Amino acid sequence: MSESIKTLGLAIREIAVGESDKIITFLTPSMGKISVYCRGVRSIKSHRIAATQLFCYDELTVSVKGDRYTLGEACLIENFFGIRSDIEKFALAQYFADLLCEVTVENEDQSEILSLALNSLHILLSDKPLALIKSVFELRLLCEIGLMPDLSGCEICNCTDGEFYLDPIGGTLKCRECIFERSGEVLDSSRAYVFVGSHVLRAMRYIVDAPKKRIFAFSAENDFLNELASVSEKYTLSQIGRGFDSLDFYRSL
Ligand SMILES: [Zn+2]
Repeated sequence: MSESIKTLGLAIREIAVGESDKIITFLTPSMGKISVYCRGVRSIKSHRIAATQLFCYDELTVSVKGDRYTLGEACLIENFFGIRSDIEKFALAQYFADLLCEVTVENEDQSEILSLALNSLHILLSDKPLALIKSVFELRLLCEIGLMPDLSGCEICNCTDGEFYLDPIGGTLKCRECIFERSGEVLDSSRAYVFVGSHVLRAMRYIVDAPKKRIFAFSAENDFLNELASVSEKYTLSQIGRGFDSLDFYRSL
């Protein structure tokens, strides 16, 4: 017996199957990540073709049999189509989608992560700098999955101001004195500590603490944003434990 359910869903991965089918991974608010078999949706005759593209946000009717999901109807809410007209934005959105596929799980409430994803795709349609959007998405995503870095201050001497070094594995800060000058400390040299200047640290603290409606509400010069993006990316890849082809492609542009 199969049952029919309705859910909202954002298409974060698609795989072509056979002549005209797709398997689409949707991120849903209450069921988490689901893989849905979408029959015939690559046929130009399909009335569901417009709602079954990558980054489409839909109201879905899905039939469930055991752990298999098959698409019934897909009613398009938002297609973020504007992202496709800019190769850098499209590449960045693909990296976001890959990160979402990597960290989200099935059968769990993922509504906060879905909300972050939708906000980030909306902001990609604006003219906000991509380095800012990327850093915010990465850091907030890590916060949502319980990998928020401890940005309060040096983990050894507890000082809170100045320049720090982030341990990208432990997610903690050490100040310059504690890293270079204190004797008797044996620091793990296999950890590639990442320099975090005071302005970047202030921005990172803002990103992890801001109410979700305000996460993108800051601006900065390009040099500074590039530094922020570099720290955020190193921390993200270190925490996730792998790289992404989509990120390599975005970087190559
Ligand atoms: Zn210290």
